[in-house]
Amino acid sequence: MAVSRMDLADAASPDRIVMEIFKHEPNLPIPVPIESLCRQLDISAVQPLQTAGYEGGLITDRDKCDGIILFNANSPETRKRFTIAHELGHFLIPSHVPSADGQFLCSQQDMFRLSAGERDKRHRMEVEANRFASRLLLPAKQFRIDVAASKDPDIQQVAALARRYNVSKEALGRAYAEFREEPTAILITKDGKLLRSYVPPTKFPFLSVRNGSPIPRQSLLWRRRHEVGIASDLDEADAGVWIDIERGKRAPTLYEQVLPQKQGFAMILLTIDPPADDDHDPDGDRTAKERLQHRQAQWRR
Ligand SMILES: [Zn+2]
Repeated sequence: MAVSRMDLADAASPDRIVMEIFKHEPNLPIPVPIESLCRQLDISAVQPLQTAGYEGGLITDRDKCDGIILFNANSPETRKRFTIAHELGHFLIPSHVPSADGQFLCSQQDMFRLSAGERDKRHRMEVEANRFASRLLLPAKQFRIDVAASKDPDIQQVAALARRYNVSKEALGRAYAEFREEPTAILITKDGKLLRSYVPPTKFPFLSVRNGSPIPRQSLLWRRRHEVGIASDLDEADAGVWIDIERGKRAPTLYEQVLPQKQGFAMILLTIDPPADDDHDPDGDRTAKERLQHRQAQWRR
């Protein structure tokens, strides 16, 4: 490997740092060799965490000359990889300063954090470290091509890409919702309740089911019998079950697909076709980018 800390000296944001890494390492294989990359970037050791109740940690000093990354040894390989990338983010993002004892300790909840209040500096650091990890493990140039490879959004593609990139289905799913051209959302459920949802705000309408709420009875999760590990087909659903439909407006066509997982977990993919304005289909004349802009404009209306 050729990249060094010096190459990243002018980069401050997660996206910019990842961009510089790939600029200097254009031929990194997939899955990204995260531990080798850590060592190349002044991490002296990557080792199991001794403190219970945390998913990851970073031991460093205020100047961050070098660092030791810690991970939860009991977690699955995919989660460990994400944690290690997340901690590398804390190490490389210049504004992330360790606590007085020279440590970052991050919980499992921190690894899922995608938004934070303006004033909450610690949470903002977690959000940035997650963005860094996602961008690093799913290199945009290749990921964009892989995500566009299937004609329609498909939960089986999410599972296959998770294997290819060696990340969890959830980490893959949230990037999938962001990168897929069609408005697509990924939901994680546990014991029939919504645990977390990944809804790209500029592409997908506001979800009317809140985190912690039961999954509506009309959902495909309940309408069919499912087997663990076997994805359902993409099935048309009543859009009003998942999103608010304004009075007088036509509902878009919404499709649902379910992948039941072990221990009561399930992943649900939602995707929509916006309602046509009239009988003429102007989409036919548009490029993919214009179609996307048109759809976004429709949802903002
Ligand atoms: Zn963290």
